[in-house]
Amino acid sequence: MNDSANVFSETSPRNGSPLPPVRGTELVEIATIITLAHQAQSLWAERSIEARIEALTSFKGRLLDRGTELGKLISLETGKPEVEALLAEVLASAEVVDAWCKHISGWLEDEMVALDATSYPKKEAWITRVPRGVVAVIMPWNYPLALPLRTIVPALLAGNSVVFKPSEVTPRTGAILGELFQGLLPDGLFAVVQGGREVGTALVAAPVDLVAFTGSVASGRKVAAACAERFVPCSLELGGKDAAIVRHDADLDRAASGIAWGAFTNAGQNCASIERVYVHESVAALFLKKLVATVQTLRARDDVGPLTTQAQFNTVQRHFSEAVAGGAEVLVGGTSDGLYFTPTVLRVTDDSCAIVTEESFGPLLPVMIVASDDEAISRANASRFGLTGSIWTKDERAAERMAAKLRTGVITINNHSFSGAIPLLPWTGVGESGTGITNSHHALDHLTRPRAMLVDRNKAPRELWWMPYGAALEPIARSLLELKRPGSSLGAKLQALFVLLTHLPKRWRGLLPPKS
Ligand code: NAD
Repeated sequence: MNDSANVFSETSPRNGSPLPPVRGTELVEIATIITLAHQAQSLWAERSIEARIEALTSFKGRLLDRGTELGKLISLETGKPEVEALLAEVLASAEVVDAWCKHISGWLEDEMVALDATSYPKKEAWITRVPRGVVAVIMPWNYPLALPLRTIVPALLAGNSVVFKPSEVTPRTGAILGELFQGLLPDGLFAVVQGGREVGTALVAAPVDLVAFTGSVASGRKVAAACAERFVPCSLELGGKDAAIVRHDADLDRAASGIAWGAFTNAGQNCASIERVYVHESVAALFLKKLVATVQTLRARDDVGPLTTQAQFNTVQRHFSEAVAGGAEVLVGGTSDGLYFTPTVLRVTDDSCAIVTEESFGPLLPVMIVASDDEAISRANASRFGLTGSIWTKDERAAERMAAKLRTGVITINNHSFSGAIPLLPWTGVGESGTGITNSHHALDHLTRPRAMLVDRNKAPRELWWMPYGAALEPIARSLLELKRPGSSLGAKLQALFVLLTHLPKRWRGLLPPKS
């Protein structure tokens, strides 16, 4: 028995209603689950790509059939408005399946490699992508359907098996994924394990071939250390402290409403939430007026849900109180009711307070005023995190120049972070935002490994470089060196060429089969 029986959420953050109980996975069950996943994976990898696509297409149909139910459940478990769950989770996930099914064959195709026929006579080479094997997918609670599927769908299509651990806060949404795959895949190919940190730790310690982890920096660090011990590759998608830069020439109406959405969607519980704004001093007053007016129109429950957990609420409350104690001016919000914290905009001058340096993961938006683009860039870059960032301006060239200096995985101009929902664009970060890549063919660099393949159709009994080396090989090697050396004189090159032409035939003769 592990401690997971007690770790699951029990009431809905949205309305306090009780949530059905969940059976935790016993730690002793994990070994068998992994063994079955290995067995199923070898069968699955042998299936044609068309058969794999067919299974995932059926999965998408089932997902949409249960879309309304899923929207309600996600809203109950996380607290987010149902409309957000439908748009950002159910519909976005269907799009993920469509995009991967459309592109996977091309993205998995072998890549031919041109070989120099003089150096490598009668040889053909290519690179093929091999599935990793068993992929452990460990996920957080903030997007309990969309985030797991961004990895699970391509992992399965690429020929892997998946053992998925949903967050202990959203285990019921996780369980539905298991139901949706039921009967579509070989037994054991997709398994859901339920529990908290202890089950996650056990899964990472099990004989898996890749750990795809999304979550906090603290947990990600533990996962990375455990994987490093055993040289198991891991992909880490961690926290963020995204900055939005509002230039002097920005469309302020669009910037105000876009930044309000980027900061407060999912009640700010988004790794790529806007958690810092750097606005140019020449437009700061007007921008803030428009931003505050926009935020005042947001309705609790309908637009902005509650914080999903008490721990998250406590972090938000702490960041807010410390900022106010440090002199921040509250422009709108700052109140709470149960787990509901009102969308809050503050004017902040102290870059060292937690609201500017730590991930809040809640509806807090500190705004800082800057005198230039360079100041905005250097203050935006002064963060341990580097997930996404946005630049709001009418001057695209200027934005591209600024983007080149920003230290983030994703940059959006005149919008924020929504590219995470576009399956063809890579989602990745730098620094403490992690090393993972989801979406696009780049994700396959984690989910598969490249295998070099070479076939040699040379009928000669030996290659030039094979043993025994004989007396002719050394002068050949020295001559080649002289011919390639940049500082070699014309005379030395001619001499080397002469030696090469004299010794190569001797060497070739030595490679011929002995006369019988
Ligand atoms: P968390 O780290 O507490 O938990 C994430 C998952 O890891 C859960 O399933 C948990 O049970 C498991 N876990 C915890 N400790 C573990 C360990 N030592 N070994 C193995 N598994 C372990 O994170 P959370 O509170 O659920 O999620 C919020 C965090 O996730 C935020 O920091 C957010 O920024 C980040 N996040 C990042 C992205 C991204 O794409 N970069 C997306 C969503 C969320």
